[in-house]
Amino acid sequence: MQVLKSYIDGRYQGLSGAETFDNVNPATGEVIAKVEIALEPVVEAAIAAAEKGQRAWAGLSGAERGRILNRASRLLRERNRELAELEVRDTGKPIQEAEAVDVASGADCFEYFAGVAGSIRGEQVALSNAFVYTRREPVGVCVGIGSWNYPIQIACWKAAPALACGNAMIFKTSELTPTTPAKLAEILSEAGVPDGVFNVVHGDARTGQMLTTDPRIAKVSLTGSIGTGKKILAAAAATMKRTTMELSGKSALVVFADADLNQAVSAAMLGNFYTQGEVCTNCTRVYVEDTIHDAFLDLLVKRTSKLRIGDPLSHETQVGALISRPHMERVLSYIEAGKADGARLVLGGERATSAPLDKGNFVEPTIFAGCTDDMRIVREEIFGPVLSLLTFKSEDEVVVRANATRYGLAAGVFTKDLARAHRIAARLEAGIVWINNYNVTPIEMPFGGIKESGLGHENGQAAIEHYTQLKSVYVELGDVQCPYE
Ligand code: NAD
Repeated sequence: MQVLKSYIDGRYQGLSGAETFDNVNPATGEVIAKVEIALEPVVEAAIAAAEKGQRAWAGLSGAERGRILNRASRLLRERNRELAELEVRDTGKPIQEAEAVDVASGADCFEYFAGVAGSIRGEQVALSNAFVYTRREPVGVCVGIGSWNYPIQIACWKAAPALACGNAMIFKTSELTPTTPAKLAEILSEAGVPDGVFNVVHGDARTGQMLTTDPRIAKVSLTGSIGTGKKILAAAAATMKRTTMELSGKSALVVFADADLNQAVSAAMLGNFYTQGEVCTNCTRVYVEDTIHDAFLDLLVKRTSKLRIGDPLSHETQVGALISRPHMERVLSYIEAGKADGARLVLGGERATSAPLDKGNFVEPTIFAGCTDDMRIVREEIFGPVLSLLTFKSEDEVVVRANATRYGLAAGVFTKDLARAHRIAARLEAGIVWINNYNVTPIEMPFGGIKESGLGHENGQAAIEHYTQLKSVYVELGDVQCPYE
């Protein structure tokens, strides 16, 4: 069976006889490949290659880097279908999603930062008889650490701004989804990115720890859980690394009685069942004004019951397989907790086991009504297709309840009242607020959480600040003012 090795210095490299793990298709339980874990000598090779690559890459002008990154964007789009299929085998998500979103979002990101690369600049400040200018410089070798829900998109969202700013990157894949970030590395080489500028290593927390504790790494960008985020922040503190943390969420969608009901239901479905619920920004707490509760629930159940669960490689499928057996067990245990805590199960709630789905990790789209803020399904991130419906009476009340959480990733509000929409957007404690939509993430929009959901931003101009460091240069035009003789 094929052994997937790390991609370092423009080629696949590894050690013979190294430790491996199985990469499993979540929809079928089949082993797709064996993956070699990058430990000490391989991680060392990746860091050495990245240091060398970064020096060469930073020597190019921004416009030259942009030209190469644009080629990468084109190649990603040309291979959309092939990459989407690989993504589906690794993640279990429906092919219709992977073809429409995952690779395209990565290509958009390279296109956007290719355009930005040539205009990264500092500023000039005039003083009397002196001036100051600032330089936005690359930080050096960056580490990206990925989660398994959007592997190629996450790799692109980290690599594109990092490379546009003149950095090198070592990307550690999630141990559950190693395939497509390695394909991205091949594409970047083909586009003309010099060897060593983008490297991919595979492995578990041990590989991640080697990278996040190494003093030669200037920055770490993680997409993962809050627990891992805290460990990495602590590790990074020892050498004062810059960090970006894209972490967990338990976001609220607030639907007022004046909202367009069908649109609000669409948003609630997208924000709970897309990628079988494995999306960090999902609005898993849906608060509806009490006067529309019954109409909202009826429509939500009617439309959700039509979702087609099945083979992720079929274009008919709308709900795929959860990433792993343990993760599916965890999601099912939350469904049991919902029932035990007194929530009313109105749809789904079971594993889908009709053949051939019994071989994979399929869980039905699940809706709980009659939820209260203290229930575990309402307080904790489930990361599966489980929606909790709650009601509210007033604006003040719902804002306080929506904010009563350690999470602060995203939120949404549906209303036709313009003033109320903006008032609520300002009061919600979240890094992203959608008004009359949900989970739309254009590359132009900074993406990141507050509170325990994260630090820093990806995408938009904001990402440039996280992948550059500022240097101030003072230029004297007069004499040194010196009180000494
Ligand atoms: P995880 O935290 O278990 O793992 C994330 C990555 O960190 C993996 O590559 C893992 O190998 C690595 N890792 C684990 N321990 C490490 C350590 N001590 N040092 C260095 N690296 C280490 O998370 P997961 O299960 O892959 O992902 C699910 C979580 O990710 C959910 O909580 C979800 O909300 C979050 N997520 C957030 C976003 C976002 O943009 N905010 C996007 C996707 C997923």
